[in-house]
Amino acid sequence: MGFINKGAIEYNNRDVSVSDLKPKIIMNNKIPGLIEQFNTLISLPSVSCIEPQLDMSNHAVVAQLGEWLEDLGFKVEIMPVEEKAGKFNLIAVAGKGEGGLVLSGHTDTVPYDEAGWNYDPFKLTEADQRLYGLGSADMKGFFPIVLDVLRDMRVNDFIKPLYILATCDEESTMAGAKALVASGRSLGEVAVIGEPTCLKPVNMHKGILYETIRLIGKAGHSSDPSLGINALEGMNDVINRLLEWRTSMQQRAVNDKFKVPYATINFGTISGGDSPNRICGNCELRIDLRFLPGMEIELLRAEIRREVMELIDGTGLKVEFDRIFPGVPAMETPADADIVKYAEKLAGEPASSVAFGTEAPYFKTMGMDTVVLGPGNIEVAHQINEYLELASIEPMKNITRELIKQYCM
Ligand SMILES: [Zn+2]
Repeated sequence: MGFINKGAIEYNNRDVSVSDLKPKIIMNNKIPGLIEQFNTLISLPSVSCIEPQLDMSNHAVVAQLGEWLEDLGFKVEIMPVEEKAGKFNLIAVAGKGEGGLVLSGHTDTVPYDEAGWNYDPFKLTEADQRLYGLGSADMKGFFPIVLDVLRDMRVNDFIKPLYILATCDEESTMAGAKALVASGRSLGEVAVIGEPTCLKPVNMHKGILYETIRLIGKAGHSSDPSLGINALEGMNDVINRLLEWRTSMQQRAVNDKFKVPYATINFGTISGGDSPNRICGNCELRIDLRFLPGMEIELLRAEIRREVMELIDGTGLKVEFDRIFPGVPAMETPADADIVKYAEKLAGEPASSVAFGTEAPYFKTMGMDTVVLGPGNIEVAHQINEYLELASIEPMKNITRELIKQYCM
């Protein structure tokens, strides 16, 4: 195991040597090497979370990326996100003309459980052919890989623009991607998001919707049901109704390209009541709905609410709904889109689906055909001891280089 620190680098792996990852020709030696940049990004905490006490600014990460990109010849803009104080997107561009390629990643990480980590989550640590650190796979590692490729390129000679985007709040509210959409900018014609897909191209994912359903009844002594309105019994009926609705939704649409080929509802949490001898006065249920491309978040949300309101009509129960977070749309880039075909060729793998949400649907709204393709495995993301396989760096550099050649040179 080696702790990788600025100025004191210690490596001891056999198969892929970290020195192999150093550029052959250093055109710009002001900029630190890939591993040093990676360590710097890991060392800058940038948790985003819907719980305000855990949420942090991502400014240090975008400022650092901006500095490196400027040194490489990019025009850099740091865009404050109005909806969220302390949050910023970075938009860097090099090259001339219209269209071009967007390479995009998010700068935030999920919260972490320090006690569970075998390593310092804020220091890049090499062990077992892996680089450990919070956000190593999801997805701070993507940026130093892109920067390392650009180091050997004359970015101002690009005949079509290359945009590097670094967004905020992907793990929580998607405020960064939404602000890009709201700004009405036109960026490239195709985009690659370097989320961890084990270097396989992804052209579709499900959408995500969370909903809180809160039933308010009337508490009273348990000995006489007529003294109250039992919210917990009401919620039992709500769950049964939503189970029926789930079945009908699953019969309505099937997409065999997904491992779970239909929409799902997970009944995640329930709480209510305060004592066995009191009529339960209120009860709260939280659900997670994962839906297929072609289904719309707000239509689904309206259907859920209508089902519940119909059910409790006349019972004396009241209901409140809360969206928890705005949700993530489903995404699908046509299998015959140029970027899908080209990414398949580079990766040597057919495009497929993943079970997590990304910023891709927002990029689609901005008019870009988008593929998700990056190093690292989603199974280690959002976990203690998150890591990026050392062996994934060189193949991702090759893919990135070929993408830039294809769309910008
Ligand atoms: Zn991610």
